[in-house]
Amino acid sequence: MTREIAIPDIGDFKDVTVVEVPVGPGDRIAIDDPILMLESDKATLDIPAPCAGVVREVLVKVGDRVSQGTVALRIEEELADRPAPTPAAAAAGGDHVDLLVIGAGPGGYTAAFRAADLGRKVTLVDARQTLGGVCLNVGCIPSKALLHVAKLVDDAAEGAAHGVSFGAPQIDIDAVRGWKESVVGKLTGGLARLAKRRKVTTMQGMARFTGPHEVEVATPDGPRRLTFDQAIVAVGSSPIWLPFLPDDPRIFDSTGALDLKAVPQRLLVLGGGIIGLEMAQVYHALGSRITIAERMGQLIPGADADIVKPLTSRLKARYEAIHLETGVAAVAAGEALTASFENASGTWQTKFDAILVAVGRRPNGAELGAETAGVAVTGQGFIPVDAQMRTNQKHIFAIGDVVGQPMLAHKATHEAKVAAEVACGHKAAFEPRCIPSVAYTDPEIAWTGLTETQAKAEGRKVKTTPFPWAASGRALSMGRGEGLTKLVLDPDSGRVLGAAIVGVNAGELIASACHAIEMGSDAADLALTIHPHPTLSETLGFAAEVFEGTLTDL
Ligand SMILES: Cc1cc2nc3c(=O)[nH]c(=O)nc-3n(C[C@H](O)[C@H](O)[C@H](O)COP(=O)(O)OP(=O)(O)OC[C@H]3O[C@@H](n4cnc5c(N)ncnc54)[C@H](O)[C@@H]3O)c2cc1C
Repeated sequence: MTREIAIPDIGDFKDVTVVEVPVGPGDRIAIDDPILMLESDKATLDIPAPCAGVVREVLVKVGDRVSQGTVALRIEEELADRPAPTPAAAAAGGDHVDLLVIGAGPGGYTAAFRAADLGRKVTLVDARQTLGGVCLNVGCIPSKALLHVAKLVDDAAEGAAHGVSFGAPQIDIDAVRGWKESVVGKLTGGLARLAKRRKVTTMQGMARFTGPHEVEVATPDGPRRLTFDQAIVAVGSSPIWLPFLPDDPRIFDSTGALDLKAVPQRLLVLGGGIIGLEMAQVYHALGSRITIAERMGQLIPGADADIVKPLTSRLKARYEAIHLETGVAAVAAGEALTASFENASGTWQTKFDAILVAVGRRPNGAELGAETAGVAVTGQGFIPVDAQMRTNQKHIFAIGDVVGQPMLAHKATHEAKVAAEVACGHKAAFEPRCIPSVAYTDPEIAWTGLTETQAKAEGRKVKTTPFPWAASGRALSMGRGEGLTKLVLDPDSGRVLGAAIVGVNAGELIASACHAIEMGSDAADLALTIHPHPTLSETLGFAAEVFEGTLTDL
């Protein structure tokens, strides 16, 4: 990587004269080697090299006058921490790779691109034909494209309450699927172009470790052996399947649901978590009658109960049934699918046309031959890592869903940058103060940092400041006053520890709470920040004013 070397902070000296340039193009220099000598009327200063490398260009000459920030040299940086190829790797034969990234989801492609930007030669391997992993192909993006369609249908249906009525929607399922696929295609195609631009080599195939510095990739053209200096494992996660379910095309996971093969009349969604509820919303808008079965006592079990309540109320009014603290023990496949439910009040059976299984995801760490490379994997299939995203093998990193919860794309991308930077010899660590979670339901639910439930479980004293959207002019003008914005604060200092929002666009609104937490803000910082009126973002300011005692909107 070419790096520009500028004059560092040299105290009060400005416009000092260059009296010696002891290096020239082609010279190899080590960290702290002198690269310039400067002289002012008071002192002589040696400027040391901040990194090792080969001098490509010298941009100053004797007699020039320089100050802090003047670019003096361009150096092809050599990264001291990068290990030399091991004799084992070199002897093993096959193609040799500098940095191998396994898995091209948001974790893998981000790590590959960042490492390439830092000057590494990167090979990115993925079992899929297209880049983007679960997120772009069968996760975040296709689900949001379909949720957009659901929003159009729902908004049109609700227009009547505001004096504008539309006819019943005409749904062309092939065109809806086409819309979703066009969005996915744009993004995965864009990634392929970005990889090419960065000279990242991409390879399709399932990779398995065959040694500490070696993998075998099952490509469509047969097995290929690759040796590598360093590797980043970003193999993600897969949907959990329930063993008692019969093999029937009418029973599918989220990937099957996104295929949108048909719109069943009655759909049972197993699991009231984020993925199940988002897909339920899509199928409801397209015409399915929905039943949800959730083993826990509330929908979206990770979020605070008061935040989930407005969503549950809205869904109860629209869906056929929401069964909480309820399991499905068996499914019989006949003309219809008969599900056997059980909960504290008894057992019963109901017939459905299709079943979506959305009961969670499991990490893919166990299917990688990781033990052959000496990489530790937990019984569940997670790969433990340290703050630098290193596994127990110093030259192998892991990121994304495969290293732990929360299994979210934005966690994967941030871990990816840390792994790539550390692999390139930089000092970096993954130490976020908060990672936001968002359910793109209607209303949306978003939370970040400490939840009230967590604080209670940990016996931690907090002050919460709920601000009801019934007092927000913007929310009411949208007919959506059911929302709530809540801050979780340190009761003594007022420092923002967490935030949770339910309402339209909660997923967008939570970002400023994340920023507040990362910046160590307190309630006064948020309350004194002038939020534009009338917006939903004001509710964050109002929730802070509740703590400050300055709220006049309630
Ligand atoms: C329906 C759905 C909706 C979602 N919505 C959101 C959302 O809105 N926001 C959000 O943040 N997250 C969402 N997620 C979660 C998000 O998709 C994941 O957290 C994210 O994709 C994880 O990224 P990753 O890089 O760890 O792995 P993945 O995206 O899972 O990518 C891993 C890749 O590795 C490949 N692979 C696996 N094993 C091997 C191997 N041995 N050799 C070669 N390749 C291999 C796989 O083919 C895959 O392409 C959603 C998930 C689903 C299923």
